[in-house]
Amino acid sequence: MKDETKCLHSGYSPKNGEPAVMPIVQSTTYRFDTTERIGELFDMPTAPMYSRFANPTVDAVEQKIADLEGGVGAMCTSSGQAASLLSILNLCKAGDSFISTSTIYGGTVNLFAVTLKRFGIECIFVDAEASEEELDQAFKENTRAVFGETLANPALAVLDIEKFAKVAHKHKVPLIIDNTFATPILCKPFEFGADIVVHSTSKYMDGHALQVGGVIVDSGNFDWTNGNFPEFTEPDDSYHGVIYTRDFGKMAYIIKARMQLMRDFGCFPAAHSAFLLNLGLETLPVRMKQYCENALKVAKFFKASDKIEEVHYAALEGDKYYERAKKYLPNGTCGVITIVIKGGKANAVKFMDGLKLASNEVHVADIRTCVLHPASATHRQLTEEQLVACGINPGMIRFSVGLENVDDILADIKQSLDLV
Ligand SMILES: *Cc1c(COP(=O)(O)O)cnc(C)c1O
Repeated sequence: MKDETKCLHSGYSPKNGEPAVMPIVQSTTYRFDTTERIGELFDMPTAPMYSRFANPTVDAVEQKIADLEGGVGAMCTSSGQAASLLSILNLCKAGDSFISTSTIYGGTVNLFAVTLKRFGIECIFVDAEASEEELDQAFKENTRAVFGETLANPALAVLDIEKFAKVAHKHKVPLIIDNTFATPILCKPFEFGADIVVHSTSKYMDGHALQVGGVIVDSGNFDWTNGNFPEFTEPDDSYHGVIYTRDFGKMAYIIKARMQLMRDFGCFPAAHSAFLLNLGLETLPVRMKQYCENALKVAKFFKASDKIEEVHYAALEGDKYYERAKKYLPNGTCGVITIVIKGGKANAVKFMDGLKLASNEVHVADIRTCVLHPASATHRQLTEEQLVACGINPGMIRFSVGLENVDDILADIKQSLDLV
């Protein structure tokens, strides 16, 4: 099936007389006839038994997303942050390290650089444009994974996924890709060698700014028996001696994440949230196409304006990442554009406050056009010098193009730029 069909039919196949839409199974528990049956489920979790780690409504959405990414299994989480966290904790324990590109979502930088450090896990940050040889040198004896973003938020840099997959595999560790901005409609990282994909489903996948959520998807391709991952190949004492690679084969990673981490942390989404996420996914291909169409027109408009110093949008001819985007994102590079307005922060604020249709929001990749000023929001604590050092220009604006008629979006930009 093609993506449009999967978005409507994957994950749930109603039988004769059953509801056409996956119902919300609003129940924490499931009733069983015998004690023996419950015992069997503890041995081989083939059916939900408690909604801290599995639920039929969530399960249907997980299968749909796994199918869209081309993976063998998926696990939803209560936020994108939880997905990133568990994707690493499933591989690293105190004393281990992993590598991440430095151009990733600000919240993930904090999680990796500060919070995981407190748990004894080191993140080694690398330049996404580093050569293979430079990347080789970043690896240590205890390095267990490599992490990057398809389309970095907010720099909008396109990652060379194949380069990172090659280097990770040379060092016998998996590549994890945050595919939030691209969604599986615009890029499928597994096709370029990534092993695990994570998403914040709060963005385009939900699509309507209704509920925060995340997901981890397993390609099933990584060889966990390569000697580097004893937790996958030796008995799990916390689960009566299960051996993940022996008992679950290609699904070892995603089952281990559920049986160990979701069981213990319980950051599982509510059935109602999964129902809303499914609704968003049904129209994802149509929406992504329109986001790309609208954003390209807006990017061209910004490019032509003499009040705008820089436009970052990989689908725009002349962009630093234009050629790479043709390979990884041939059908478009999402609806988010980063611009730098002339005149620094004062003009950025004037332009943003002058917008009437687009709203000032702490959100991105939303159905409604929204803007955010990194220097006075996500990076507020930094001095002007520090802002420059981490690539946040005081005049930088993250412009997230929505699904309003593009002429209305352009008219709004025009009237506000006229004030600057
Ligand atoms: C928003 C975002 C996250 C975090 O997701 P939440 O659902 O807000 O927890 C992670 N990665 C990227 C790229 C994001 O944009």
